[in-house]
Amino acid sequence: MNLEEISVKQINGVSALKEGELHAFGISSVKDLLEYYPFRYEDYRLRSLSEVKDGDKITVQGQVMGVPVLQRYGKKSRLTCKIMTEEWMITATWFNRHFLKDQLTPNREIVLTGKWEQKRMQLTVSDSEFPDKGDGRSGTLQPVYSVTGKVTQQWMRKTINQGLVQYGEMIPEILPQALIKKYNLMPRKQAIAGIHRPQDNQEGQRARQRMVYEELFLFQLKMQAFRALNRNRMDGMVHTTDNTTIREFVRSLPFELTDAQKKVELEILHDMRSPYAMNRLLQGDVGSGKTVIAAIALYTTVRSGFQGALMVPTEILAEQHMRSLQKLFEPFGVTVGLLTGSVNGRKRKDLIASLQMGMLDIVVGTHALIQEDVFFRELGLVVTDEQHRFGVNQRSVLRRKGYNPDVLTMTATPIPRTLAITAFGDIEVSTISERPKGRIPISTYWVKHDMMERVLGFISREVDQGRQAYLICPLIEESEKLDVQNAIDLHVQMQQNFPKYKVGLLHGRMTAAEKEEMMREFYSNDIQLLVSTTVVEVGVDVPNATLMVIMDADRFGLSQLHQLRGRVGRGAHASYCVLIADPKTEVGQERMKVMTETEDGFEVSRRDLDLRGPGDFFGTKQSGLPEFRLADMVADFAVLEQARDDVSALIADATFWTSVDYTPLRDFLQQQQVFKGDLID
Ligand code: ADP
Ligand code: MG
Repeated sequence: MNLEEISVKQINGVSALKEGELHAFGISSVKDLLEYYPFRYEDYRLRSLSEVKDGDKITVQGQVMGVPVLQRYGKKSRLTCKIMTEEWMITATWFNRHFLKDQLTPNREIVLTGKWEQKRMQLTVSDSEFPDKGDGRSGTLQPVYSVTGKVTQQWMRKTINQGLVQYGEMIPEILPQALIKKYNLMPRKQAIAGIHRPQDNQEGQRARQRMVYEELFLFQLKMQAFRALNRNRMDGMVHTTDNTTIREFVRSLPFELTDAQKKVELEILHDMRSPYAMNRLLQGDVGSGKTVIAAIALYTTVRSGFQGALMVPTEILAEQHMRSLQKLFEPFGVTVGLLTGSVNGRKRKDLIASLQMGMLDIVVGTHALIQEDVFFRELGLVVTDEQHRFGVNQRSVLRRKGYNPDVLTMTATPIPRTLAITAFGDIEVSTISERPKGRIPISTYWVKHDMMERVLGFISREVDQGRQAYLICPLIEESEKLDVQNAIDLHVQMQQNFPKYKVGLLHGRMTAAEKEEMMREFYSNDIQLLVSTTVVEVGVDVPNATLMVIMDADRFGLSQLHQLRGRVGRGAHASYCVLIADPKTEVGQERMKVMTETEDGFEVSRRDLDLRGPGDFFGTKQSGLPEFRLADMVADFAVLEQARDDVSALIADATFWTSVDYTPLRDFLQQQQVFKGDLID
């Protein structure tokens, strides 16, 4: 019996009710439960007072001495008691734990966890337990799980522990013995137990090390096996368009390409002309001019006798790209169609028919492009913009509408080259490293909340001059937990502040159609001020918007702030970005400064890495990098490289597909639905 086939209900203490609550954590089988890892540990190991420093959080054991004293202040209370530890007599203080008073009987053994104040020989207790009642926390490292709602930390600990007791022995090994030996890895059983209840730091670290390696290994295995099974790479589309034809198109552009654009253009054309299927990531900062590169590639595919598709995440973006491509292609007789969720009925039918017959050269669209009844006569190139918004599957469905078409993915999030290659497999990376010259720079200011009056004055100056502004909030509505600006309240305030103008509201809880409608109104200047959450961040282009105000800016990641700022500075007018924030930490203040000091996205991400340590920047969904339970693409990069090499050696070995040693790995691949006949993605 596999652990994934055993329901968590089989674990003592998990009722039908609890089972339901666990579903919210993605836990339904015993396997899920055992693989629900803690994100940190609480240290309850006993310390000696002579070794600890003032201010440390510590756990000590001692005996109750004298009589406890309870003081009450309304609903609050303070309880103190003398405790004799091995070294000294100390005073223990509890807040709001009056019920403990009667349990503090003379000479009773007690274990205290709390903050140590050397000078006053006092411990402010956060946690205490009596060994004679023994829930066994003391002396250990206790896992801390992410829990919410009715599932408490204590219950989760107990349940996972019980799971290990009942099923720990059944945890199967999956890594090949040779690799376990090579790296002296902990056996899987022991590693999973060790992650949940490490005896000491060292065991915890070894357990984590093992599971990180496994995670990255399986990830590489999935990707590489996928490729190995589909290695008919020589049957990609061969694009035959000659240079003269392409130059003619490039000369017709309203500007000259930057050196950086010329470089990536060559890289892309080289791939397109080769018989290999292109799989290339084009990265470039917001405003670096990726769209025109996509246009050149699309033009090339059409001139080679094929069709091209451009998929973008929203209707607004699709319409925008459609308009700009039409303008560029019109003189050359290249036809462009639009297919989004709002294209229906007759129009949709005609469009699909002309695509299928090859009467339409290029189609721009949203997810609507991957619907089942959309066919191409001969698809030569697929371009996706803002790729992290699409799942891998959506991209591969579009790809399958042709036969090994070339693929170009565009992103504004900078990912270091080595990281991208390893993370995505054999994807090639092109980078537009500079922006067109002559742009009016965006001036970025950081102000504290007490300057809000002046910010309002600034907004009013811009809108009075006919410009538009974005106001971004970290939250949709008021929250008890977070004291930050929310969009719904700000929307009301803005309407009161600017009665002459129309103020729109945009957030993630609106339907796609409502959002599109709101953006359209902003685009056409029916709305002058747009209060929004970060949903606005995807590459929309409203050239008349010149002001980006970000409330509680310290709540956002730097890459996100940079993307948001990229929404302005797209027209002929000078643009501004105002960050409103009172960050409490030095790092927080430094981050705001970074924004005011540079406009270069790569520089922003470099400084971000310095400030936050690796992991955070790419840890976000933003980057489009795969996410892991334990591993961190950046921090564990060396392990990722090792796993990559180990996997390629393994797959190159013919016995991989037959030997019983690798059955668990082949089972894994089957579960991941990696079968022969799939296409690469
Ligand atoms: P992004 O990389 O963010 O998608 P776009 O492709 O939207 O950037 O380009 C931003 C703007 O810069 C567009 O208005 C585009 O026409 C313009 N642009 C692109 N390349 C150049 C260039 N070489 N010189 C001047 N302007 C350019
Ligand atoms: Mg773009």
